[in-house]
Amino acid sequence: MSFPVGRHISPWVDTLTPPELGPTGFRDDASDVLVLGAGITGITTALLLQRAGLKVTVVEARRLAGSVTTHSTVKVTYGHGTLYSKIEQKLGFDAAAAYAEANVAGFGEILALERDLNIDCMLERGHPHVIYAEQSEEVEAVEAEARVAERIGLPVTLSLDPPIRSWS
Ligand SMILES: Cc1cc2nc3c(=O)[nH]c(=O)nc-3n(C[C@H](O)[C@H](O)[C@H](O)COP(=O)(O)OP(=O)(O)OC[C@H]3O[C@@H](n4cnc5c(N)ncnc54)[C@H](O)[C@@H]3O)c2cc1C
Repeated sequence: MSFPVGRHISPWVDTLTPPELGPTGFRDDASDVLVLGAGITGITTALLLQRAGLKVTVVEARRLAGSVTTHSTVKVTYGHGTLYSKIEQKLGFDAAAAYAEANVAGFGEILALERDLNIDCMLERGHPHVIYAEQSEEVEAVEAEARVAERIGLPVTLSLDPPIRSWS
């Protein structure tokens, strides 16, 4: 598969034919829940509700998984740059810990769905999420993130090898 250089492409849009959407129209006597939007959030919500025994209708205004979801790089991780230390700074440690708890639960849910539904999505396990400093001024932020993640109880390794100064 080759992709054009210099243009933002999405494998989902550029190589896949979108599944046909069903008929439009919603009968509220036929559904317990109406989910608006068939991005990853809406589809996952609908699936979990359906698995919990509810009748669900998903209404999509444009295209299935066609909006922000289209542009995801599809990494599944509970690390997000230096977000935990930013949350702690703004909202306190408990908020950062709660955010981590939700992320770890979501992470597990995605792995379980892929396994239980036997979804062929080339999910690879075991690659660590890495954040790094490109400039010496960024080292402090990386260290702060590692400290918060460690206090929360996330598995984290801080490495100053190679030392930042040898990168320039
Ligand atoms: C470049 C990029 C890379 C990313 N990489 C990652 C990554 O590696 N890992 C990761 O976990 N996340 C990543 N993300 C974030 C992730 O893609 C988004 O958080 C996620 O896709 C959001 O999904 P969503 O379903 O909430 O929204 P969307 O995908 O935007 O879906 C919302 C849907 O609702 C529909 N809609 C809106 N209003 C209505 C209405 N009134 N009626 C009916 N339908 C409606 C829209 O048409 C759309 O289809 C990335 C995002 C970007 C932009």
